[in-house]
Amino acid sequence: MTDHDVVIVGSRLAGTTAASALARKGRDVVVLDRARFPSDTLSTHVLFGGGIEEIRRMGAFERIAALDPSFLREVELHFGPDVKVHERWGANGRSDYVLCVPRPEQDAVLVDVARGHGADVREGCELLDVLWRAGRAAGVRYRDPDGDVRELRAKLVIGADGRRSTVAARVGAWRPYRASRNGRGLVFRYLDDPQAGTRLNETLSQWRDGTSICMVFPSAPRPRAVALVMGPAADVHRARRDPDGAWAEFLRRHPGFAERIAGATNVGKLRSTADTTAYFRPSSGPGWALAGDAGHFKDPIIGQGQRDALWMGRTLGEAAEPVLDDPAALDAALRRWEQERDQECLSAYHFANNETRIQPQSPVLVEIARRAQGRHDPDLGDMFARIRDQQEVLTLPRLMGGAARAIARHPGHARDVLRSALPDLRTDLAIRAEIRRGRFRSTRPIAGSEHPGWTWPATPRRPTVDACAPTPAATAAASGPGGPTTPVPGADIPATSAATPSPTPEQVPA
Ligand SMILES: Cc1cc2nc3c(=O)[nH]c(=O)nc-3n(C[C@H](O)[C@H](O)[C@H](O)COP(=O)(O)OP(=O)(O)OC[C@H]3O[C@@H](n4cnc5c(N)ncnc54)[C@H](O)[C@@H]3O)c2cc1C
Repeated sequence: MTDHDVVIVGSRLAGTTAASALARKGRDVVVLDRARFPSDTLSTHVLFGGGIEEIRRMGAFERIAALDPSFLREVELHFGPDVKVHERWGANGRSDYVLCVPRPEQDAVLVDVARGHGADVREGCELLDVLWRAGRAAGVRYRDPDGDVRELRAKLVIGADGRRSTVAARVGAWRPYRASRNGRGLVFRYLDDPQAGTRLNETLSQWRDGTSICMVFPSAPRPRAVALVMGPAADVHRARRDPDGAWAEFLRRHPGFAERIAGATNVGKLRSTADTTAYFRPSSGPGWALAGDAGHFKDPIIGQGQRDALWMGRTLGEAAEPVLDDPAALDAALRRWEQERDQECLSAYHFANNETRIQPQSPVLVEIARRAQGRHDPDLGDMFARIRDQQEVLTLPRLMGGAARAIARHPGHARDVLRSALPDLRTDLAIRAEIRRGRFRSTRPIAGSEHPGWTWPATPRRPTVDACAPTPAATAAASGPGGPTTPVPGADIPATSAATPSPTPEQVPA
């Protein structure tokens, strides 16, 4: 058992930014990851301006830029065949472009930079359990690369270990208190961009045809690009059964997309997922916190996960560092941080839920886009760059104007337009009210945004004692949720109270 200030599980976006924020202030931080870097993960990797600013703050920008990505300075949004919005990206700090670097290379840089700030990043190390003392998370037990079981004691345990977070499971926060069952699947592949060297190679392009959305974004190293289709989840199953047939159908469905990638060479295999349930988990408690996807996930359709994970890691590290040595102040700071996180992410969460509805584009949005055509200035793109949130870009007067123009354009279908526009407006008003109210861990679903019917896997079981081969001290300290409850002589105070599930949503005062 060695003593440290903070132990972080997960060493990608949230883990490395939290580690950097803490280690830069001289804190003793250990980061564990079961992966060895460079390591891949199932994710595309558009990084919008807000995320690039986080990379800069972390001091990783020069290293990422050295990986030779395309700098995407423009965005094209196609709404069907006759509406095309073409904008420059607005500036978020010094970044008025989008970057796209595959995860193995990007995340390896983040690990290196965190190490440079003084964090002790241990690869090939798998978390087994959270250790408890007097009702507080007090450290971890993990398996090292040689298969030996080791323990670390720390004032704070951070779970930055992604959607299937073992930390969340061990602290009793596995099941989200709020979630949305989203309906899209993602199918993507890498290819050599036939438009390398042209303006399109500096443009993020999106096509919205029928009920699906697809995108092309140049990546790194040049001339690689990603071609991505986000259609109904059934597309994923079809793509797995018959990759060539499914891809041919995507190209038929999206002629603009097909034209953009025509002639591509070095075309990679299809990768896909239909597992995109969005959620919020309780993300703070005595001596622990969850950052990045471990605590909150939103559908990747709007490409905000990386930015939010970077933001969460940094802000969590900054909030915890000054009070690490005072447990009560630390717990209060963690809870304030969780509330701030929710405020930061709520609008994007609803925005993503909305985009996952399997239905034709809203006629109101199409009219707003139609009016935005021909202007080259940053506007709709600000929602992605996180310069303004959706409610600031799509203001109520703008939505009303869009609805009026949609009715005027389809006078014979006014009733149909209203039938889709009125519920959307009600949803929008409910989202605005929720953001304004700022309730902590609100469980009130927003009809029209949060899709019901989500299910959740059972809490992953703790490895058996034999599999972990824990030391006697480890057994004594492991009295967290579901852990041993019998006091062991000479052990730390058995912390059966920590087995209490996280506070009930909305019962916890902000
Ligand atoms: C298909 C798809 C496409 C996406 N596309 C985009 C996009 O284009 N742009 C964007 O911004 N976001 C995108 N996202 C979201 C983005 O991938 C995530 O939000 C982001 O990776 C979250 O980072 P993180 O650091 O929180 O967790 P992760 O990246 O999930 O990292 C968690 C780490 O924890 C480690 N770990 C887990 N369990 C343990 C354990 N028990 N012991 C030790 N280590 C452990 C893992 O090895 C992993 O390295 C996409 C997501 C998906 C699923």
